[in-house]
Amino acid sequence: MAGISKDCTNNYQESTLTSLLKRSIKAKEHSHSPYSKFRVGAALLTDTGEIIDGCNVENASYGLSICAERTALVKAVSMGFKKFPAIAVTTDMNEFIAPCGACRQVIAEFGLECDVYLVKSDLSYKKMSVSELLPLTFTSADLERASLKK
Ligand SMILES: [Zn+2]
Repeated sequence: MAGISKDCTNNYQESTLTSLLKRSIKAKEHSHSPYSKFRVGAALLTDTGEIIDGCNVENASYGLSICAERTALVKAVSMGFKKFPAIAVTTDMNEFIAPCGACRQVIAEFGLECDVYLVKSDLSYKKMSVSELLPLTFTSADLERASLKK
């Protein structure tokens, strides 16, 4: 796709970013959050320029609820995507809300380079890196080092 460089996964156009931000807000409309009333939408940009969205899906058995970010990631991976230059996350709050710890870890699984956009309804955003959100990240590299010691 135009504007998406093969060499630098984080090189995407401003128009792509705008689409990503808007899709995260649109994704909130499908939120299933009857318990918390806390709607969350996420939109994930793939390295081929696709945008996969997700919303939070709560459950009466609260622990089974899944966040919007992980919904989008699981959808995307199941569709065959593995590289994600950016993800946008939004709520109904008039402030920047960051992904929970579980989502940070799942985003990190697919690369520490992913740009994370915390988005307000007016499309204003705060851009963060996975490393900022999850310092001292545990990744597959840690498992590889452990297996080399045996
Ligand atoms: Zn989460």
